[in-house]
Amino acid sequence: MIITKHKPFAEILSFLEGKERVFLIGCKLCATVCGTGGEAQMKALETELTGKGKTITGWSVLEPACSLIEVKKLFRARKDEINSSDAVLSFACGGGTQALAEGLAEKDIYPGNDTLFQGEVAEHSPRRSRFEQRCSTCGDCMLAVTGDLCPVTRCPKGLTNGPCGGVKNGKCEVDAKLDCVWLLIYRRLKTLGRLEEMKKASAPKDHSKNKKPQRLTRG
Ligand code: SF4
Ligand code: SF4
Repeated sequence: MIITKHKPFAEILSFLEGKERVFLIGCKLCATVCGTGGEAQMKALETELTGKGKTITGWSVLEPACSLIEVKKLFRARKDEINSSDAVLSFACGGGTQALAEGLAEKDIYPGNDTLFQGEVAEHSPRRSRFEQRCSTCGDCMLAVTGDLCPVTRCPKGLTNGPCGGVKNGKCEVDAKLDCVWLLIYRRLKTLGRLEEMKKASAPKDHSKNKKPQRLTRG
């Protein structure tokens, strides 16, 4: 899931200087789970922005906002409201905002969210959510040899062949709140009876597999 957080409200307002009529777009998938782009947030933002003198021409929560197909469908269905707006505020991730820019080519579109990382939902309730980064989408997955724990992401130094010398009482020297992932890898491989695998050296990461922008075509 793509993890987002709202930009500070003052920054969002600064995008709208001189713009009165605003259409809001959220996303029913990741941004809804993150509490940044669901229906509840659209209603709250409508109230907040109206309080700052803006006219909300309408809002929509796409499923998902990063689908150009859904963006085009929205434009066909809500063309008049969108065309009558001075700006569109996106409460999707950065990918969603760019799909909006592609589908609504003649509109000023501004990001209401900051996009942080691809994450695991570790805790989620109406009161509290916690998201943890587990994968950095390196394009060359090595989980098969690390007991399914990713040192590329979970070791702040990205060490792929065992721990540094800084681990202290099982904690990481860079961030004492973190368990050293190499200790976790050791324990998991031991549980699985695969400890021998730790002795094998991993080849250097092939960073060419993470060239940007990435593309994938199926069929
Ligand atoms: S090795 Fe690469 S693809 Fe696999 S979990 Fe880690 S960052 Fe993601
Ligand atoms: S203590 Fe462990 S997790 Fe932290 S930087 Fe060293 S090897 Fe990586």
